[in-house]
Amino acid sequence: MALQGLNNQRVRNFNKRVLCALLYREKVASKSTLARLSQLSIPAVGKILDELQEEQRVEHDPHNLHSRGLGGGSYRIAAAGQRILCLNVSPYLIESIVVDGLMTPCSTFTPLPIVATTPQAMLQEIVQIYHLHSRQQGMPLKIALSIHGQVNPLTGVSQRMQQAPWEGPVEIKYLLEERLKTEVLLDNDCVMLGLAEKWQNNANLQDFCVINVDYGIGSSFVINQQIYRGSLFGSGQIGHTIIDPDGSLCACGRYGCLETIASLSALKKKARIQLKVTPWAQQVMGIGYLYVEQALTEML
Ligand SMILES: [Zn+2]
Repeated sequence: MALQGLNNQRVRNFNKRVLCALLYREKVASKSTLARLSQLSIPAVGKILDELQEEQRVEHDPHNLHSRGLGGGSYRIAAAGQRILCLNVSPYLIESIVVDGLMTPCSTFTPLPIVATTPQAMLQEIVQIYHLHSRQQGMPLKIALSIHGQVNPLTGVSQRMQQAPWEGPVEIKYLLEERLKTEVLLDNDCVMLGLAEKWQNNANLQDFCVINVDYGIGSSFVINQQIYRGSLFGSGQIGHTIIDPDGSLCACGRYGCLETIASLSALKKKARIQLKVTPWAQQVMGIGYLYVEQALTEML
């Protein structure tokens, strides 16, 4: 629902986001359709679309969608004009790819293993990756960050990164925007997977759940097309639910969390131990294990 009234920058930006979201959903839409869906007046929608066109975020096609249409042509999200650097960040790996306004890849997908013992080291790696891609693309880039752990998407603060050797919050959005002078959007990695499913997979249902099993285990829920956040943005953090009170020690300091049993790192560890304690398994599983090890390593 768009905001009406107060004609200030914040409201304008909010309404721009509303229209962009509608255009992503509808793919192509007329001014009157956008006015109906956003509940803004047609002149107000026209003004916002003009600005979005000036910013090269929206394209205008003078042809009408339907022959009996009232005229005015149609609008769609502009492919050219803006590039977004998408990063999936954890303290041991940063994956990166550049996409255009329609989410079409404009670079190769690059996984880069890192060793970040401090937040500063991790931010430095992100800055270097940004400069590399920005040079390759020949333009400044916006940044979309998918961050492991608990994230406040409103303030852009990483509240807790369980796999990191540091504790406490990191002002990722603020620090990166200061250094790179560009717009940074960030959210939890599982939330980003849920959003990708929502926007990229047309076959998805109204309500669905994404479960991400890698080094740890996380999940996100999309209900009525909206991410369910829960209190303190902790929804979906299922990896540290205690499944076996007598289980092994978890990185979080407790015992028997789901991650100690079912994450890929836990499964790899179990497979290795099994091979050591069961000599016949080395022969029977030898070749199979190589494949499993390879597959798990590629997934991690
Ligand atoms: Zn735990």
